[in-house]
Amino acid sequence: MEPNKDLVAKLVMADPGLPRPNPTQSYWQHIPHELANAQSSSLPTERDFAIIGSGITGLAVAKSLLEQHPAATVTVLEARTLCSGATGRNGGQMAANVGEEYMHLAETHGPEMAGKIVSFTFQNLQRMQELIKEYDAVESSEMQQLQKLRAFLTEDTFRDFKLSITRLESDHPSWKGLYTILDKETLIKKYGIHGAEGGALLPAGTVWPYRLVTKVFAALMKKYPNRFTIETSTPVQAVEHESNFVTPVTSVFPYIVRTTRGPLRAGNVVYCTNGYTGHLIPKLRGRVHPFKGTMTVQDPGKAMPNQGKSFSWGFHYPVTYDPATKESGHGLYYLGQSAKTGYFYLGGENARIEHVVSADDSFVDKNSVIHLQSVLPQFFGKSGTPPWKVVSSWSGIMGFSSDGLPLVGQLPTSLTGRNGEGEWIAAAFNGYGMANCLMSGEALVSLILGNGTGDWLPDAYGLGEKRLRDILTAPESIKALTSKL
Ligand SMILES: Cc1cc2nc3c(=O)[nH]c(=O)nc-3n(C[C@H](O)[C@H](O)[C@H](O)COP(=O)(O)OP(=O)(O)OC[C@H]3O[C@@H](n4cnc5c(N)ncnc54)[C@H](O)[C@@H]3O)c2cc1C
Repeated sequence: MEPNKDLVAKLVMADPGLPRPNPTQSYWQHIPHELANAQSSSLPTERDFAIIGSGITGLAVAKSLLEQHPAATVTVLEARTLCSGATGRNGGQMAANVGEEYMHLAETHGPEMAGKIVSFTFQNLQRMQELIKEYDAVESSEMQQLQKLRAFLTEDTFRDFKLSITRLESDHPSWKGLYTILDKETLIKKYGIHGAEGGALLPAGTVWPYRLVTKVFAALMKKYPNRFTIETSTPVQAVEHESNFVTPVTSVFPYIVRTTRGPLRAGNVVYCTNGYTGHLIPKLRGRVHPFKGTMTVQDPGKAMPNQGKSFSWGFHYPVTYDPATKESGHGLYYLGQSAKTGYFYLGGENARIEHVVSADDSFVDKNSVIHLQSVLPQFFGKSGTPPWKVVSSWSGIMGFSSDGLPLVGQLPTSLTGRNGEGEWIAAAFNGYGMANCLMSGEALVSLILGNGTGDWLPDAYGLGEKRLRDILTAPESIKALTSKL
């Protein structure tokens, strides 16, 4: 029994719309940054680069453009407040998922490309730490370098994980030792984790992403006051190309970016719009779709030691579907702990499909919160105790692609439906943005400036014809959402 395929098809193909004007507030944003509502007195009229979206990807693109182009004028357009999308409302985990995904990646793309994706992800996590240090944000963003403990709640999920790691290590012996496999007894005795069949440790980190991103944006505003602006509360409603109105096109700013504050002319448009991408690029609907997550902050009081400097956790289980409630469990709980307060940050998706394939972060699904509250003590063998207090809960919108990989590159006219070669994208990080966004933004700028990316951006992230034809498709999204049920 699985959710109705027609409903899933309708949901993935739906227009995600503009970011909702009244999102839930995440705990990370409870003290808004002074730039939260940054806006010029009037919208700039002509810019070399208009970047849509002020999450970590928009930041990476803006920063790289400003640093690498000596004169480019750059504007970030944001529908709501600064960093109010997934980056400002995520789980704060800096961790890779390539271990558990390796087998699938190798089967789909071959071992060489799969290895490139592994390298890219771990390099990106390294770059995150460098960025945090470069901007003196270790303290303010509460960055921790730690080990992530992945626990597998069933024999099958643990077996598949081990097979994937064995293949990774055999295809790429240099990655041997990255994952330390743990058996059931060790998990309980040494790490206090209950109810799992086995697990693994891998190097990882945690961060307060909102504080990091807003801090770096503030530094860019200060450094480039004459050629960089941030325009919050400026939803982009449509993008047009001058050739729709006049030929031949002579303007160096051929794009007309229509916003609620009027038009902005741009030389290039960069979409860092994550789960909302399909609104502005309808031909990407279905290939990329929104995926709504729920997060909680829970206070265990004195019931648990503070391990926030040493560990973060992930709990994997087979995807589930309950025909009675029509709720699906999407296979993963992600958990961190604040080294300062001891609060747990737990996220996971367990809701009806229409509340998961959704771009509406204006409410939190109550059942999801109750569910997250009920599972957390169990992981630590405290199931008999009353639930821990929920300090905060919120929802956020991820961008998922049908093949599970980001989209990084130039948008072909077949997707934009417009003339011009100045539309670019870095979006759809499938819930693993902290392991992908920064270098995806940097790589995109290298492509925009004509420098290429050498060998470090996996080709599989690009928008080649084969990917668009075979695996970046709406039917593949529907399959991904229903086949594991
Ligand atoms: C609940 C949740 C938990 C997560 N946990 C983790 C985690 O622990 N670790 C991890 O690595 N990743 C996690 N992720 C995923 C991660 O947060 C994202 O992959 C990453 O932040 C994406 O960054 P981005 O800049 O591409 O997109 P976003 O941060 O979503 O930014 C996109 C921005 O574009 C704006 N926008 C969109 N359309 C328009 C428009 N038309 N006009 C103007 N502005 C527009 C949006 O308002 C938004 O601010 C989580 C995500 C969620 C939602």
